[in-house]
Amino acid sequence: MTQTELQTRIDLAACYRLVDLFGWSDLINTRITARVPGPQNHFLINRFGMLYDEITASSLVKIDVDGNKVGPSDDEVNSGDFAIPSTIHMARPDINCVIHTHTVAGCAVSMQKGGLLPLNQHALQVIGDVAYHDYEGTGRSLEERERFLADFGDKHIMVLRNHGLFIVGRSIAEAFIATYRMERACAVQLAFQQSGAEFNPLSDAVVSAGYAKSRAGAARGHDPNKFDWPALLRKLNPSTQPTRNRQAGRDGKAQRAPLVLRIKHCDSLPWLDTAPVQCNV
Ligand SMILES: [Zn+2]
Repeated sequence: MTQTELQTRIDLAACYRLVDLFGWSDLINTRITARVPGPQNHFLINRFGMLYDEITASSLVKIDVDGNKVGPSDDEVNSGDFAIPSTIHMARPDINCVIHTHTVAGCAVSMQKGGLLPLNQHALQVIGDVAYHDYEGTGRSLEERERFLADFGDKHIMVLRNHGLFIVGRSIAEAFIATYRMERACAVQLAFQQSGAEFNPLSDAVVSAGYAKSRAGAARGHDPNKFDWPALLRKLNPSTQPTRNRQAGRDGKAQRAPLVLRIKHCDSLPWLDTAPVQCNV
């Protein structure tokens, strides 16, 4: 196994656990896929039947573009559900991670005729980057996949109407942060709609600027791999949280948490396991 594949496994397993931690999982359903770096068009996906908080780096299954397992394995894979992620991965080489969710907020907004509404800052951060596609069933026919891709264009958040969300990123971290922002926007919209309160309108200029900024990728203006992702990984690993007093330095301030991605020390991390992944590469 190459070091880049190992790193992808670590990040993807962490992503599954974070999605569960934030309450976005749906038992053993839905999936998150990541491209294995390299020219082979290989991808990593969850072993079918595992809950998201059980997933580890070595339990992820490597598959090809058709959902066939690469190498011998007894693991079950839901290759049919890989049809849409595979279509996205192959049509958009810059996309390395696809997150599919059935969250309450995402599904509820997907059922609304108007979709995500430009009601607040959270929505304006993403709204220009949101596409819509009518739910047609399984998404396994070539024709539907072509319509899905056409509707998606070069955006990063797809509302599959009456179904859920597909969110993509150039990296696992980027897809996760985009999912967080979209989830937040959907949840805030629902909370407001349920309150029955009168809406305090935003000016057209603010709304237009929000569309333009998010369409231009402002939401991806900084690399989440730099600050957001390491912070999220600390959240997964209690022993690295700086609030622990035993990590306090002489000045009483918490010391910087250990670099959790230093894979030589990975066997203490909860989203990893020691075998068969070789940690000492
Ligand atoms: Zn689904």
